[in-house]
Amino acid sequence: MTQPRFTGKVAFVTGAGSGIGRATAVAFAAEGARLAVLDVDAAANEETARLVAEHGGEVLALTCDVTSSRDVAAAVAGTVERFGRLDAAFNNAGIEQPAAPLTDIEEDAWARLIAVDLTSAFLCMKHQIPAMLANGGGSIVNTSSGAGVVGIAGQAAYVAAKHGLIGLTKSAALDYAAQGIRVNAVCPGIIETPMMNRFSGGTDEGRARVIGQEPVGRMGRPEEIASAVLWLSSDLGAFATGMAMVVDGGQTVGL
Ligand code: NAP
Repeated sequence: MTQPRFTGKVAFVTGAGSGIGRATAVAFAAEGARLAVLDVDAAANEETARLVAEHGGEVLALTCDVTSSRDVAAAVAGTVERFGRLDAAFNNAGIEQPAAPLTDIEEDAWARLIAVDLTSAFLCMKHQIPAMLANGGGSIVNTSSGAGVVGIAGQAAYVAAKHGLIGLTKSAALDYAAQGIRVNAVCPGIIETPMMNRFSGGTDEGRARVIGQEPVGRMGRPEEIASAVLWLSSDLGAFATGMAMVVDGGQTVGL
């Protein structure tokens, strides 16, 4: 058994009520972290908190809309009040875009997608970084996507947000590198989550279509993204900052 990497550390996970966020919250807890789990879906978030507690993790469940600066500020303050510090943040909440060519994207839908998938990470970091600086540093991982590194037809808003997240990550990494804060992005491929189920339609045909994009011939599991996030967040990743780690079964390698 390897040593738990997050004993004594405090982690903060958004979009924790489902999929990649839930798996990562449980993984942090299994490696000794105390953590705040956040989601806009209070019931799903409470279920994640229950799973975290099952792994022996001390957990604070906070209902939070990551597009609201007020919600995010209160969540960071609540985390520090409860646990006394903040060491690792996983800014992961996101929504998908219904497939549509650019001219069919309504302006409201564009603004909503940019708010949830891009501006949220700015707001989270704006409030997390001062809390991390107060205890000498920390690590932030933002969830981008394969859509952060290649263009995809019918996905202009999602691709713009996920490319933007990588730029945001790189600049934030440079702003705070000398002060002990590392900022990285993880870029998942096709991962078996409720979001992917909605995206594929959940049918055998839809699943086969998305799996067809994966050279490894299967979807990834949320836990396989969690393990990358934990590496980036831990001391094993101490020299990694400003990086976009693509974990995608080869999906974007040949593109
Ligand atoms: P998921 O299963 O839909 O989980 C996302 C969670 O975020 C949901 O609980 C959702 O709540 C929550 N959320 C949505 N808007 C929010 C908001 N404004 N404030 C707080 N929480 C909010 O999705 P997932 O597949 O785990 O995706 C997690 C992240 O990975 C996303 O950023 C996604 O873009 C990215 N990603 C996923 C894949 C994939 O194949 N699954 C691939 C690449 C990147 P509701 O359910 O109530 O909306």
